[in-house]
Order: sequence, then structure tokens, then C-alpha cells
Amino acid sequence: MIRELAKGLGATFKVLFRKRETISYPEHKKPRSARFRGRHELRLYSDGTEMCIGCELCQVACPANAITVYPAENDPKNPHSPGERYAYRYEVNMLRCIFCGLCEEACPTDCLHLTQEFELANFSRDSLIYGKDRLLAKGPSEFTIPKNVYPEFEGRKAEK
Ligand code: SF4
Ligand code: SF4
Repeated sequence: MIRELAKGLGATFKVLFRKRETISYPEHKKPRSARFRGRHELRLYSDGTEMCIGCELCQVACPANAITVYPAENDPKNPHSPGERYAYRYEVNMLRCIFCGLCEEACPTDCLHLTQEFELANFSRDSLIYGKDRLLAKGPSEFTIPKNVYPEFEGRKAEK
């Protein structure tokens, strides 16, 4: 009896002073790996112009039919993006998405990328269909408009 008790306490003391593996989520979050694929984001160029040119390649590449792009012609006086078109509506259905990253691979402008954000749970279907209001980046990125592709945009400041 005492032997068993000592054996049990021995096991307890063995792990008592070990570094804890548990963390206090959600106050503390474990860093994701660099390759982690979470919520989508549509980047902006450094001047605030949208990088998305509404080409729909991400929509075509998606194996889960999770992306819908509605392109429109840019107004030359106040374009949303460099080039002829932009995405006037852009939706990702997070209920369908399998976070494979193929849309990111297909994007010719590096506009679309999958962030580290993983807390996407919600209660209704509508709240899991993300539009441009939630997908557009909060601020400009370090990407500059490629001069050789869009020479007319050189030095232009985006009008918002
Ligand atoms: S990550 Fe994959 S499944 Fe999700 S939208 Fe992109 S291509 Fe579609
Ligand atoms: S996110 Fe990229 S691939 Fe998708 S429509 Fe915009 S530019 Fe094209």
C-alpha cells in the first residue's frame, strides 16, 4: 500500500516542476508556423491602391468554389486599382474554404494572401461569407505598383 502511494507521488513529483505545455488561450496565442494558412486578405499597394485587378484567376483556381469575384471597369479618372478592371465585389465563403492556398498561388499580382488569423468561428452562414469590407487590408503594404506593367501609374497617389 505505502509502496504504491510512494510510486504514485513519485510520478506526480516527476512532472511537478517541468515547464508547462499549456497556455492561457485566448489571452496568449501560440505562434503559427510561417506556412500557416488562415483568413484571406486583399492587399493594397503602398499608395493605398487596391492590388486586385479583378482577373478572377483565384475564383477559377479554387477547388471548393469558395471565391466569387465580380469585376468592373475602372473609372480612368479615379481608378480603384492599376489596370482596366478591379473587383467591385469580392467574396470568400469560409464555410466552403479548405485553406489549400491555391487561390493565393494563382493570383498574378500577389494581392491575395492567407493570413495567420484562425479564429473564424461564428453562428450564422451570412457572417462566414466575407466581403471586401472584411477582406481588404487595414493599411497599405510594402508592395509598390510595378512600373513596367503600369507605367501610367508612376507617382500617382490613390484617391479615396
Ligand atoms: S484557400 Fe483553397 S479552398 Fe480556400 S478559397 Fe483559396 S483556393 Fe479556395
Ligand atoms: S485576388 Fe488576385 S487572382 Fe483574385 S481577382 Fe484579384 S488579382 Fe485576380
